[in-house]
Amino acid sequence: MDTQTSTRTPPPEPRTFGFYVGGQPVAAGEREVFERASPGHGVPVTRIPTCSAQDVDMAVAVAREAFEDRRWSGLSGADRAAVLLKTADIMRARLDEIAYWESLENGKPIAQARGEATGCIGMFEYAAGLARALHGDSFNNLGDSMFGLVTREPVGVVGLITPWNFPFLILCERVPYILASGCTMVTKPSEMTSATTLMLAEILTEAGLPDGVMNVVTGPGSTVGTAMTEHMDIDMLSFTGSTAVGRLCVEASARSNFKKLGLELGGKNPQIVFADADLEDAADGVAFGIAFNTGQCCVSGSRLIVERSVADEFARLVADKMSKIRIGDPLDENTQAGAITTDAQNRVIMSYIAKGQEEGATLAYGGEQLDLGMGQYVSPALFTGVTGDMAIARDEIFGPVLTVQEFDTVDDAIAIANDTVYGLAASVWTKNIDKALTVTRRVKAGRFWVNTTLSGGPELPLGGFKQSGWGREAGMMGVEEYTQVKSTHIEIGKRSPWVDG
Ligand code: NAD
Repeated sequence: MDTQTSTRTPPPEPRTFGFYVGGQPVAAGEREVFERASPGHGVPVTRIPTCSAQDVDMAVAVAREAFEDRRWSGLSGADRAAVLLKTADIMRARLDEIAYWESLENGKPIAQARGEATGCIGMFEYAAGLARALHGDSFNNLGDSMFGLVTREPVGVVGLITPWNFPFLILCERVPYILASGCTMVTKPSEMTSATTLMLAEILTEAGLPDGVMNVVTGPGSTVGTAMTEHMDIDMLSFTGSTAVGRLCVEASARSNFKKLGLELGGKNPQIVFADADLEDAADGVAFGIAFNTGQCCVSGSRLIVERSVADEFARLVADKMSKIRIGDPLDENTQAGAITTDAQNRVIMSYIAKGQEEGATLAYGGEQLDLGMGQYVSPALFTGVTGDMAIARDEIFGPVLTVQEFDTVDDAIAIANDTVYGLAASVWTKNIDKALTVTRRVKAGRFWVNTTLSGGPELPLGGFKQSGWGREAGMMGVEEYTQVKSTHIEIGKRSPWVDG
């Protein structure tokens, strides 16, 4: 492991943001202000208002008015596309600024933050096409006296709650699709990472999005998030975060107005490696899959399931790759893995590393709290001798902690992979097409990678099986998700009477 420091620095003073309603920032005023420290440097970088339930009411009322007067839903798909494309242009011009604030609040390497923001531009460009492609269906086969139409309408006011691990990427996997559908929205970023969401709201206004279509409320989940999940005038809630809070969203929906839910939740994702794989490639992919974003990634490949005949050799290869990952200052262009985003998450990761050893697994590599003289950093941990009943093999740790389990047959590999309540993502490494396809077909996961991991883009939908969530984001499904379907029967010609005479 190689540690990094940077010549680029955090801002001398924290940047102050307002929340965002009706096309403009709203200053904190009398509200409390949350000062966020950069997890990589330990210095304050942003100041964010703590909104109240009344602020949520105000933002929802503004979004409701913007929806009902059709200032956005009434536009053609082409006009909506023009705004999304202009947004992409402005994002491109402000790429470095977005990456800088994302890296500061989250602790991720700046080069990675820039790569993610570049991917986000693609999301807007792709969704612009979808705004024009979205269409319904018709039935011309109902006999000469009847015609059937199936149309899609925007679902209404959408609440969007996002987590801190990919604040901008997760936002942009949803916002352009929600807007393409014609909905209006109120967004709540994680209280830890609000800056780039507020920047996007400002960019959308500059790009010509009508005021009130995209609003942002800031503050903690326990107050602001709850006010959204329970709100009677939010028609749909898209929530991305932990399975535990996802469950609260379902309960709140049932208690309030049965709002439609999209849920993207946790994962404990298998990396299945067969002896016939290109082991060098697979080891690189497995190290990347667990250390990328310091393992704070819903689709991290956190369970290595490897064929017994190559297990020892493969674990050594992975440990060797881990030892070469450049961990350090998120603002250094060469850093590959940055800081752990929150103090609480740092404690969770270190407690699981201790627990794994108490449970009898062998810590074969890493798992140390690194002292870089600033911030909080952890070296990726590799646990061998892991059994399926251990907490480190079952719980989503959300950190750079990889467990190794061994298998003898294809059926064993599939059984171990499916031995989890989650079903978010999975990877398989093999040069045998039969094994690759059998595993892909039988492992329950919403996203699958064959001889690669963590690839993505705007075209393919995202979402989970089992307790990893409901619904799909991105792709055409990501727009359709934010619509509701209306069926219309149209009688042609004279009605055949029901009442005689
Ligand atoms: P979290 O569930 O604690 O918080 C997510 C968001 O929900 C934040 O904005 C938070 O403020 C808000 N929130 C918290 N409590 C709430 C409540 N009672 N009501 C309403 N909102 C509330 O998750 P996190 O710690 O920010 O992120 C980590 C989790 O997110 C992990 O479990 C990870 O797997 C999951 N995640 C999933 C995906 C995916 O696409 N499936 C992507 C990223 C993260």
